[in-house]
Amino acid sequence: MSIRRPAMEFINFINNSPTPYHAVANVAAMLKAHGFVQLKESDPSWTRSLSSNSKFFVTRNDSSIIAFSTLGLLSSPLNSFAIVGAHTDSPCLRVKPVSSKTANGFLQVAVETYGGGLWHTWFDRDLSVAGRVLYKKDNFIKAGLVDLKDPIMRIPTLAIHLNREASNKFEFNKETQLLPIAGLVSDNDATKSDSLDAQSAETVLPDIASRHLPGLLDRVARELGITSSDIVDFELVLHDTQPATLGGLQSELIFSPRLDNLNSTFCATEGLIQACEANIAPGIVPLISLFDHEEIGSESAQGARSHFLKTTLKRIYCSIADDGSQSLPDYDAVMANSLLLSADMAHGVHPNYASKHEDAHKPALNKGPVIKINANQRYATNSVGIALLQKIAGFESRPVPLQLFVVRNDSPCGSTIGPALSADLGMPTLDLGNPQLSMHSIRETGGRDDIDHAVNLYRKFFMYYGTAKTEMSIDIEY
Ligand SMILES: [Zn+2]
Repeated sequence: MSIRRPAMEFINFINNSPTPYHAVANVAAMLKAHGFVQLKESDPSWTRSLSSNSKFFVTRNDSSIIAFSTLGLLSSPLNSFAIVGAHTDSPCLRVKPVSSKTANGFLQVAVETYGGGLWHTWFDRDLSVAGRVLYKKDNFIKAGLVDLKDPIMRIPTLAIHLNREASNKFEFNKETQLLPIAGLVSDNDATKSDSLDAQSAETVLPDIASRHLPGLLDRVARELGITSSDIVDFELVLHDTQPATLGGLQSELIFSPRLDNLNSTFCATEGLIQACEANIAPGIVPLISLFDHEEIGSESAQGARSHFLKTTLKRIYCSIADDGSQSLPDYDAVMANSLLLSADMAHGVHPNYASKHEDAHKPALNKGPVIKINANQRYATNSVGIALLQKIAGFESRPVPLQLFVVRNDSPCGSTIGPALSADLGMPTLDLGNPQLSMHSIRETGGRDDIDHAVNLYRKFFMYYGTAKTEMSIDIEY
């Protein structure tokens, strides 16, 4: 397998995934192309349909997705889950519920900050809009995804001549100065917005046409093949139109938006697909769980702190138990036997800010996934997980390189979905992820080869977790 192939597929994936909705749709498309079938959470009988196939996925809010396979149960009863968790969301600017603004001849769109973005990087970028739209069709309200792709907005910086201090320190107000322009007011806009002020008879909120720029609604409607009066509501976010690309003299880097955490989302999906094509460890259900809302604390119906994963694991277990053909260990024993890899991006060492890293822990790009360790449990990794992961990475002739990261004692530390999921599920967990620079910038930098490394690591995890476990006996007898 060439190293470049998964990296190019990843770049294609990221360019088509400007929002969590698009990421989930693209993950679902990858899975469907490899024989996975959709289950619906609202279907009371989906547990019974597990016998109909061996590869499944289920979504929540169209922005979180879980996929798993029962192939490993053909030869052996359920013993454990091998889970890779990641997140589908990234910091961004979201169009406000009432967004239409004009000022000094400019059309503007009011936006709300989502997550902890490096917002100064959003200035002077060519921005477009994408997201989920609810619209009326044939007396139903339907949902569709849009990506306008064209550069319809921009947040302009102030000229240096008008702010001499900006070359030393760039400061701005997130409410009043992080406000995109979307063109110039024309006579047409004036008459159009006047005529749309009237309240529609069938809505209790001000008509959507009075809340947003008519030009923006027209573009969204055109993309969906509807008229703008059919739009009911939406979640639209801004994104950079510059596509992700390989970079560097040897094309050894990736310059891209949303590496955090579509990198892990893609690698987990590809790892699961490849493992299912090869061989799943006997008695293991391999599973990926990709959540929305990590960037804002995971506390939502589809976030990692919801019961989405927990209930899905229970439904899978009950379905296999109800089938009666296998005698299963207790559910809690299965949980204790399982392992969660919490996959999220890591901070690679920055050549211009190398002192921000602890001396002996400086992860490098293209040197493989980084195991994240924190004594204060901002990361859930422990020595048992590290021992297991090393075994898993070492299978086959080409081992996957791994690196270690711990934050300096005088530095703040990020966190992941790992500790919360680990506590809630009572499942051993290890935090890891590919190294990158500029986390939460609109344009991040990662390593090309790390895509291949992470895909291989997750594939091996699903293929060899059972074997690796049998080679360990770490329970202390008292
Ligand atoms: Zn992240």
